[in-house]
Order: sequence, then structure tokens, then C-alpha cells
Amino acid sequence: MTTRKTAYRAIPSLHRDLARCRACAQAGFQLESLPVRAPFAQQRAYMYGQAPGIVEGEERLPWRGRAGRTLRSWLDLDEDAFYETFYCASVTRCYPGRAASGRGDRTPTPREQELCAFWRTWELELLRPRLIVTVGSLALRAILGRSSLTECIGETFDLHGVTVIPLPHPSGASSWPNVPANRARLERAIDLTTHAVARLNR
Ligand code: SF4
Repeated sequence: MTTRKTAYRAIPSLHRDLARCRACAQAGFQLESLPVRAPFAQQRAYMYGQAPGIVEGEERLPWRGRAGRTLRSWLDLDEDAFYETFYCASVTRCYPGRAASGRGDRTPTPREQELCAFWRTWELELLRPRLIVTVGSLALRAILGRSSLTECIGETFDLHGVTVIPLPHPSGASSWPNVPANRARLERAIDLTTHAVARLNR
């Protein structure tokens, strides 16, 4: 049963309702997991990806699979430091299943993205992060309204006083990080992110 209050005052209450959200299934979309939620630990940075993968859907925790391991290795963070630093969210929160093409996972439809934006809006309102890291082009578009990874990776943006740093998606399904011309952009984005995280901890 999907419950959405008109206002939330704390993350635990938001999480209780998020955990039961079936808005997309009720709208007729096929989902392969229940919502994946970030453990809340007073994180000051918000990591925003595309959608959970199959491992995340099974464990109901974000960034548990191979893409998560790659992301942590980019940022040189072990699991504890990663989850203590970042509150991890995504454009949609339920595993969408495999793409019909058989290559990678299904991209959530615009309507699913719209339905799930409710949770992001309230998370950002309650968490007030000092840093947002977008992962992949769908998240980049949702946060900054920009669509070109090539133009944005390696840059820092300001969103109403919050620093936003875009990263590409670390899953093997994305070829962007492996294009030689993009390597320097990725290294710069990683450098920007690690320095921004270090500043959070000062
Ligand atoms: S993807 Fe988001 S809006 Fe859709 S059912 Fe899952 S939690 Fe709810």
C-alpha cells in the first residue's frame, strides 16, 4: 500500500513510507524488487544514481553489486567510509528488470521517474546535503537538467548553494568511461569528488 504524506519531518518516517511504495506497480509498470533504501547515518553528501540493479534489489541496499565496487574503487573508499559519507538514492528505487534488448537493465520510463521524484524531493528537503554526486546521465538530467556527460564530467556545478559533481555510471553497460578521450574527464571528476568529500570532513 503506497502512502505519501503531504509533509515529512524526519528521514525515518520517510523511509517507512518509501519501503512500502508501489506507485509504479499501481500505475502498471513491471518492477522486479521492492524499494531499495539507504541506511540513514547523518550523511552530509547525497549520491544519486539511476536505479538499483538485481543485487541491490535482492539486498534492498544501494550499490552492493559490481558497479558499487567500481564506484568505491574510483573514490578510494571502503564500504564503511562510503556509506558513512553518502546517503545513496536513485532516480527510481526498485529494480526495473532487464532491458528487452537483453543488454543491461531496463531504463525506467519518464512516468516512473516522475513518480519516484517525490522521494528525492523530500530527501533533499530533510537532509540538506552540502554535496550531491550524480552517477550516470539519467541522474544528471534529473538534478541539473543537463544531458551531456561529456560536457559535464570533470566540472563542478552549483545548485542553490549545493555543490554538484557529476560522475559517469560505473556499470559495464556504460561505455563512456572506457572511451580514451573521457579518461581525463573521469579522473578530474574523481579528484573533484574526493576533495569535496575531504572538505565535508573538516
Ligand atoms: S520506483 Fe520509486 S515510485 Fe516506483 S514503486 Fe519504486 S519507490 Fe515507488
